Amino acid sequence: MATRPPVLFFGHGTPMLTLTRNKYTSAWATLGKTIPKPKEILCISAHWYIGGPAVLSQVAPPTVHDFGGFPQALFDVEYPAHGSPTLAKQVQKLLAPSIPVQLSDRWGFDHGTWTVMRHLYPHADVPVVQLSIDGTKPAQYHYDVGKRLAVLRDQGVMIVGSGNLVHNLPMYVRNTPDLKFDWAVAFDLRARDLMLAKDYETLLRYERLGKEAALSIPTPDHFLPLLYVLGAADKKEPIHFPVEGYDGGSMSMRAVQIG
Ligand code: ZN
Repeated sequence: MATRPPVLFFGHGTPMLTLTRNKYTSAWATLGKTIPKPKEILCISAHWYIGGPAVLSQVAPPTVHDFGGFPQALFDVEYPAHGSPTLAKQVQKLLAPSIPVQLSDRWGFDHGTWTVMRHLYPHADVPVVQLSIDGTKPAQYHYDVGKRLAVLRDQGVMIVGSGNLVHNLPMYVRNTPDLKFDWAVAFDLRARDLMLAKDYETLLRYERLGKEAALSIPTPDHFLPLLYVLGAADKKEPIHFPVEGYDGGSMSMRAVQIG
């Protein structure tokens, strides 16, 4: 029997973190060394936010440099982990027939995945499959998909969400690593307390949580990966926050570990 891995959510922040050693990336690296190595990873990244459900099906997914305006060094980054067509087909089968997941070779590992994975598993020795976020669906759908994927944990698959709990790019102030706006802190801590209370239902209705929530989640792409992770968790499992902190005022770097 494989060890049942925890579920993890990462605030991935700027892709520049993949080239950096700081308190956030050190914590990611430590996590990679302390939790038992999973057999495979199923990652839900904020940066594969499309109009339907799809799963990466390649044996060797390419590294996608899905951004502009960064130094060449970032475009040179490769994350050469294997994919897992077998796991991809299993995800497709698990969610069928109500959710028709397409096997896709039209994407690869995006920076939501590799910014973190290069610190977590620098040797790229754990196969990774990415599942897209269907941006046409409400919050409850993403939580429910997480629930249906939870069974994969029993075979040693680690379910990872990569986004940012608070993510407001228009208000982001570059090169101010520790700046934090009051509303960002307020929502980040509110979300933390709801998770500690296992009150995921209130988090699912984030649109009713007032001004702080509206500023923290102006678009849902970076928040939704968390809902897959909460869905795949058992409410009896312990919850930890291996990373807490802020970047540029409007970004929470909080990581969530359940199990
Ligand atoms: Zn991002």
